[in-house]
Amino acid sequence: MDFELPGEDDPRRSGIRDWLAANPRPSGRQLAEAGFVAPHWPKPWGLGADPVHQLVIDDELRRAGVSRPVNPIGIGWAGPTLMHAGSDEQKERYLFPLLAGEEFWCQLFSEPGAGSDLANLSTRAVRDGDVYVVNGQKIWTSFGHIARFGILIARTDPDAPKHQGISYFICPMDLPGIEIRPIVEMTGLHTFNEVFFDDVKIPASMLVGEENRGWALAKVTLSNERVSLSTGGVLWGNGPTAFEFIDVIRKAGGVDDPVLRQRVAEIYCEAEILRLIRLRTVTAAVQGKPPGPEASVRKALADEHGQHVMDLAKDLAGTSGMLTNSGPLGQGDGTWNYGFLFSAALTVGGGTSEVQRNIVAERVLGLPHDIDVETGKTWSETRRA
Ligand SMILES: Cc1cc2nc3c(=O)[nH]c(=O)nc-3n(C[C@H](O)[C@H](O)[C@H](O)COP(=O)(O)OP(=O)(O)OC[C@H]3O[C@@H](n4cnc5c(N)ncnc54)[C@H](O)[C@@H]3O)c2cc1C
Repeated sequence: MDFELPGEDDPRRSGIRDWLAANPRPSGRQLAEAGFVAPHWPKPWGLGADPVHQLVIDDELRRAGVSRPVNPIGIGWAGPTLMHAGSDEQKERYLFPLLAGEEFWCQLFSEPGAGSDLANLSTRAVRDGDVYVVNGQKIWTSFGHIARFGILIARTDPDAPKHQGISYFICPMDLPGIEIRPIVEMTGLHTFNEVFFDDVKIPASMLVGEENRGWALAKVTLSNERVSLSTGGVLWGNGPTAFEFIDVIRKAGGVDDPVLRQRVAEIYCEAEILRLIRLRTVTAAVQGKPPGPEASVRKALADEHGQHVMDLAKDLAGTSGMLTNSGPLGQGDGTWNYGFLFSAALTVGGGTSEVQRNIVAERVLGLPHDIDVETGKTWSETRRA
């Protein structure tokens, strides 16, 4: 399971270095056109890079201090779906601006009555000549207020079984009839929104794939995770890692309280297990093996690990933890308080912890399926993840 990146003389490295020498401060557009934003995508948008090549590109960009454009939903979700099922015109129009970070995207999936059971959605899209007329409400739409486009799923056939009457659209966020209302989080920040659709006319050319076949597309991106050696921070890849947190504790002179010391040891063990799971995943990818159950196991563990780290950081702040700019052992700033408040979202967003455990129970352990009492179907047929 040991993993070493190719050496300094690897020709893929020199190719990237030559490019970086010619483009020392590349724009998002230059990075996109060079295929470095999503190198695992096929040409011309990526390089069709295998896992080792992807890791080499990550390594070289990191060394050169070059950051990729930020457009998580565009690059992570919308782009792979458009590549999979978009028309040639859609690919031509949307993919490069999305990769370059020039057009920011959001995801219009969740509704007040459709979260884990996403196929329960009730937003309607009715074809009327060259447009679909959309009515309904979405919720928890991250970045909806700054996005240029959204990926929208809506019901186009209310009489079909619930998974079969859903269609997938590109939705310009400035269309008449769209109202975006902010939801301010308990962190004090405004990231997500409610989005209301009142007779919104989406051009029929913005349907992705076939009408009523949107459910399959909603799941496409799940298999599109980029290979990355980094375990990232504990807040969905952002924020500090547990190892960085332990360094903060060490530099501050350590912890005397035996219960708190025990918790420091526990987060170290969790972080080490997560690191090994990540290495196993990368090793499998490099050997060309399909992804195993690690993703669900990792999400179930990683989200709770993030909460454990942030809870401990708050406790180590002592009484000053009541203040918004406090950190563990007097070392911190406002980022720790933000991390503590945000960490509650980790076990909800992107598939809740309970749903992850259902997946692990059913698909990994082969336990009996959880039955939806309303439909008589298993939850694995109806849930989001
Ligand atoms: C930070 C953040 C950002 C988000 N961004 C977006 C976004 O950009 N776009 C978007 O569309 N959505 C977004 N979401 C919404 C997210 O996808 C949903 O919150 C999530 O799918 C859970 O749905 P829900 O909130 O409706 O909870 P529910 O599905 O109503 O769940 C309520 C509770 O019931 C439990 N439960 C549900 N089903 C089962 C089951 N089968 N077995 C056991 N327990 C179950 C859940 O685990 C949970 O504890 C975001 C959420 C967060 C936290």
